Amino acid sequence: MKREVATNDERRTTNVSKIGIMGGTFDPIHYGHLVTAQEAHHKFKLDKVIFMPVGIPPHKHSEEVVEARQRYFMTIMATEDNEAFEVSDMEVSKSSPSYTVETLMALKEIYKQSEFYFITGADAIIEILTWKEPEKAAALTKFVAATRPGFSLKKFKGSISKIKPVPELHELEVPALAISSTDIRRRVLQGRPIRYLLPDKVWRYIHSKSFYRN
Ligand code: ATP
Ligand code: MG
Repeated sequence: MKREVATNDERRTTNVSKIGIMGGTFDPIHYGHLVTAQEAHHKFKLDKVIFMPVGIPPHKHSEEVVEARQRYFMTIMATEDNEAFEVSDMEVSKSSPSYTVETLMALKEIYKQSEFYFITGADAIIEILTWKEPEKAAALTKFVAATRPGFSLKKFKGSISKIKPVPELHELEVPALAISSTDIRRRVLQGRPIRYLLPDKVWRYIHSKSFYRN
């Protein structure tokens, strides 16, 4: 007898064809990330966007960032009301540093039929060049670079074209959002407001936990 209802795993490997992946420290997540993910979801007709908070960022010291579990939790709070958004604990549950290429390979095992769109800010695109095995990553995913105010992709195009295969790179204009986690952390430290730069729930959580005070 033909089954009418697909299991979750079947749905993952069959129906979902275009997946956005938004990696970040999310320390904390803010409207810059959310607007960018939503815009990419719309422009590239993505089935969903997976937010992937990094566990131990390879380029930052772990003492400098809020605990992985807390950043993961804030990311869930910020995205739970959007059914096209998901949060993965793949990287936060690892005890070793996260390399994007390894994450992409693990995702490919789950989503065998899917096309990936790795979403980053334009400023982060230069980091791709310093990734472990950028060629491998380029073969696994397309890239979407959101242009932040003051950044142009032009200057990176030359360096990116040296990676073989040349990564498929799409530019995405997002409304001028000069929001950054660095600025949010600095504001908290200086006693300045962060409300309306990020979802209310996250704002309240940051204050209840006294994050970024020192
Ligand atoms: P930090 O200031 O600590 O570096 P961040 O605001 O850049 O934090 P990350 O968690 O480092 O946030 O960023 C995750 C991804 O989101 C990166 O690809 C980054 O370029 C992108 N991003 C961050 N802020 C914005 C924004 N305002 N508009 C578009 N993309 C953004
Ligand atoms: Mg950053």
